Amino acid sequence: MAQGLRLVLFGPPGAGKGTQAQLLRDRLKVTHISSGDLFRYHLGQGTALGLRAKEYMNKGELVPDEVTIDIILDKVLSVPNEEGFILDGFPRNPHQAEELEKALSGAVRGLDKVVHIEVPEPVLLRRLGGRFVCRDCQAPHSIGEGEDASKVCSQCGGELYQRDDDQPKAVKKRIQVYNDETTPVLGFYRDRDVVVDISGDQTVDDVNQQVLAALDA
Ligand SMILES: [Zn+2]
Repeated sequence: MAQGLRLVLFGPPGAGKGTQAQLLRDRLKVTHISSGDLFRYHLGQGTALGLRAKEYMNKGELVPDEVTIDIILDKVLSVPNEEGFILDGFPRNPHQAEELEKALSGAVRGLDKVVHIEVPEPVLLRRLGGRFVCRDCQAPHSIGEGEDASKVCSQCGGELYQRDDDQPKAVKKRIQVYNDETTPVLGFYRDRDVVVDISGDQTVDDVNQQVLAALDA
């Protein structure tokens, strides 16, 4: 029986990992494991892992690596051996990559590929800096530089605003953290010869086609 691909989707904030992960999930029939969604699930349901994470968040502290790793591995190891998954938003540092490798080697099968979506920094800054959300219906909007900044929702006429995370200063910081802490993960996987590099500076469809071609899927 064919085995599902086990993938990590890797790239900076604003690379479009979430969108690509959903397309790949539908096409390859694999489980999409989004670290952001998993955190929201555990926090929302008040699971034991969620409560552990919350302890730190309530104190205004970062959730320690060990808690993040437990949350992700709990899910990864629940995927049956013959089935595939796409990890999105994890690992974010070499320690997390090592822990994932250890857990998977105990589970018979390791990763098949790490898909690296590359996007030049000026493009990321433009993309992330143009993200606005409707205060009333939460619809996401993208407003380019020099475009009409009337900041009104196209769906309901509500006021558009920028999340703290998408403010220019925060965007620069997110990219900085990625460059400093997360890009070393790429070296870890290059040593294992599993990385495929795809340009993310093209349409969503083109990125998707190139990823599928690279995976031979
Ligand atoms: Zn709206």
